[in-house]
Amino acid sequence: MIKLLNVSKIYPNGVKALQDVSITIEKGEFVFLVGPSGAGKSTLIKLLFREEKPTYGQVLIAGKNIARLKKSQVPILRRNIGVVFQDFRLLEDRTAFENVSFAMEVLEHSKKEIQQRVRHVLTLVGLKDRMNYYPHQLSGGEQQRVAIARAIVNRPHILAADEPTGNLDPETSKEILKLLIDINRRGTTVIMATHEWSLANKTNHRVITLNKGRVVGDGEKVLLTHEV
Ligand code: ADP
Repeated sequence: MIKLLNVSKIYPNGVKALQDVSITIEKGEFVFLVGPSGAGKSTLIKLLFREEKPTYGQVLIAGKNIARLKKSQVPILRRNIGVVFQDFRLLEDRTAFENVSFAMEVLEHSKKEIQQRVRHVLTLVGLKDRMNYYPHQLSGGEQQRVAIARAIVNRPHILAADEPTGNLDPETSKEILKLLIDINRRGTTVIMATHEWSLANKTNHRVITLNKGRVVGDGEKVLLTHEV
């Protein structure tokens, strides 16, 4: 379970990116985080994997206040949270297979285990026939699939996606959304930040709406879109 308790984030330049945000996300949920650019979506995602710490309030993951984690414990937290970004962030000089296996090798698995698991996740994301392609040989949607495979290869409990469809055309965006929903059905909690209201409204999942750093809506479908 993820719990934000009265979380505010003020950046050193004084920008209030989040203000008094309190939300609970249950294990196994699929949640959209929507809001216009600058609403605080990325900041909220960054708080989850401790890229940033809250200025006030607490971020609890599985009951633990993650601001209090020692430096040595942060990699353990990050193993449990896969993250996907708008710009894919793949290593250009490595194949799809190598991009995903790189995320695993760090954890010192046997070679055979790595091979099997990487093949399995790349098949799961629909890239069975593209494993040995380099990023520049793949379409945007395929590159994002590699990034998603990399994010889930260590079987995290949580997958956080920050504008994962931001660089993709509408058709490909729908496919990526479908894939994230599929991953959620397999038991992973998924949080997807997007400024595309219409994408969130295509499903019946929970939508948390942020505007100017505050939660202004929480429910099925995007509410009050004309007011935010
Ligand atoms: P979103 O993801 O919804 O576009 P962000 O979380 O990126 O929103 O940004 C929220 C606000 O915080 C914006 O006003 C943005 O300019 C500001 N901001 C984000 N990151 C930083 C930073 N590192 N330093 C200062 N201000 C930042």
